[in-house]
Amino acid sequence: MTENQMRLEIEKLKAQKNIKIFAHNYQNYEVQQVADYVGDSFYLSKLAAEVDCDQIIFCGVKFMAETAKTLSPDKKVILTVEDALCPMANMISAQDIIDFKKEHEDFCVVAYVNTTTQVKAAADVCVTSSVAVDVIDNIDAENILFVPDMNLGNYISEQIEGKNIISWNGYCNVHDRVRKEEVIQKRKEHEGYPVLVHPECRKEVLDEADFVGSTSEIIEYATNSDEKGFIIGTETGVLHTLRNMNPDKEFELLSPSLICFNMKKTTLSDVYSAAAGKGGIEIEIEEGLRKNALKSLENMIRLSGR
Ligand code: SF4
Repeated sequence: MTENQMRLEIEKLKAQKNIKIFAHNYQNYEVQQVADYVGDSFYLSKLAAEVDCDQIIFCGVKFMAETAKTLSPDKKVILTVEDALCPMANMISAQDIIDFKKEHEDFCVVAYVNTTTQVKAAADVCVTSSVAVDVIDNIDAENILFVPDMNLGNYISEQIEGKNIISWNGYCNVHDRVRKEEVIQKRKEHEGYPVLVHPECRKEVLDEADFVGSTSEIIEYATNSDEKGFIIGTETGVLHTLRNMNPDKEFELLSPSLICFNMKKTTLSDVYSAAAGKGGIEIEIEEGLRKNALKSLENMIRLSGR
């Protein structure tokens, strides 16, 4: 089957089976093109609960498909590629949180959405990078443990006054690889271009940037800016959206290391197989676990005020 035939078949299957395809901004372009919705974790999580469909095909990594299932248990949720996993999500376990809480009863545990369902269930509140500061600012507790991303945790703690925020020692092995020397070098090559970076990058990189924000905030910033060129410090997949939305602007990737191989595992053929019922893996979550994880996600939506 050619790529064009595959695209047509996917469209037919979507209509026949009432399927919606969700793709994260970091997915391959061919996958983003057949998706009904492309966005960051917060956007896709909220949408999972709201969209009217029987089946969601999730093109991303496993914790995202689990989040969609947690928020919309009546829908069939298929992750296109079984071993598309986020390494950072496995840098903390539910037992780690249980052990921490035993020793620190006055701490509120905030879990980045890039965590397993078990970790979300053990935590008190979830956050995505786009709402983390607002949510934590609104939490009625002074002591916060943020898991698992230390770079994002440290960034949040610099933005908020009056809270004692400590971070777990996890990290995103894509964003954490970028170094400040790369920012300095790129600025020399593209004089005048603002540097926009994701808060999963190291502090030395954030300190060199003109703007720090989630994937959707970076897109919004570049789209609303009068500047004609930008240096982008997040996963390369976001360049597709940026260029589509801003055909008259230039976008340069900050570092060649900004590629998430887990996000790139899904191909057009995987999407077709999942839609045809011949591939992917159906996400199933035990109901008690799901309800506990749901509480943390609902707390995020409530405290974000969005
Ligand atoms: S970009 Fe980083 S945080 Fe996102 S899925 Fe890949 S490894 Fe995980």
